[in-house]
Amino acid sequence: MPDETSDVLYDVAIVGCGAAGVQAALYAINMNLSYVVLERSHHCGSFFDKYPRRGDLISFNKPNTPPPLDTWNDAQRLDYKLKFDWHSMLNTNNDTDRFPTYTNKFYPRAEVFTKYIDDVVERNGLNAVFNASVECVSDVRDGRWGDYRGIKVSDEA
Ligand SMILES: Cc1cc2nc3c(=O)[nH]c(=O)nc-3n(C[C@H](O)[C@H](O)[C@H](O)COP(=O)(O)OP(=O)(O)OC[C@H]3O[C@@H](n4cnc5c(N)ncnc54)[C@H](O)[C@@H]3O)c2cc1C
Repeated sequence: MPDETSDVLYDVAIVGCGAAGVQAALYAINMNLSYVVLERSHHCGSFFDKYPRRGDLISFNKPNTPPPLDTWNDAQRLDYKLKFDWHSMLNTNNDTDRFPTYTNKFYPRAEVFTKYIDDVVERNGLNAVFNASVECVSDVRDGRWGDYRGIKVSDEA
């Protein structure tokens, strides 16, 4: 584990900087929790380096949606667009944070998605640490049966 993450206390430790880890980090920020995302690869979404094998996502991209109602406000319009959107992070604030602005393809390339989540991490200044493999997750207690004090994540098995 890189030195800067050793012996630091966080409210939340998120293992893996795939789509779920990035979304969890965004929720942690919204909830004013301190957090760290620990990723064993050198970049976000490493799953998509290998899969799907053809390199095209198997999930649909829907850049064009039926028009929202004229009476809706901006938040309602964004919420409506996200209903059709299988890739964007849920707590995006505007259209530039949405995946369909990256590509019009119905089956997008996987690397476009990893670029998207890399950008989400950068735009939001997420506290993600790369090349950090979590090998052990354990309770921290005062003595073997003492009060529970938290969880320790470690790169040692
Ligand atoms: C063959 C296949 C094709 C798929 N195609 C699509 C698709 O086209 N579109 C789609 O939306 N979904 C697809 N999926 C589902 C896809 O896997 C998920 O949508 C997406 O990858 C889930 O994100 P995640 O963050 O939960 O997990 P992952 O993307 O798997 O992210 C987990 C991350 O955690 C890291 N990690 C794992 N263990 C550790 C550890 N011990 N320490 C530190 N880091 C760790 C990994 O390196 C990885 O970056 C596919 C699944 C499969 C099996």
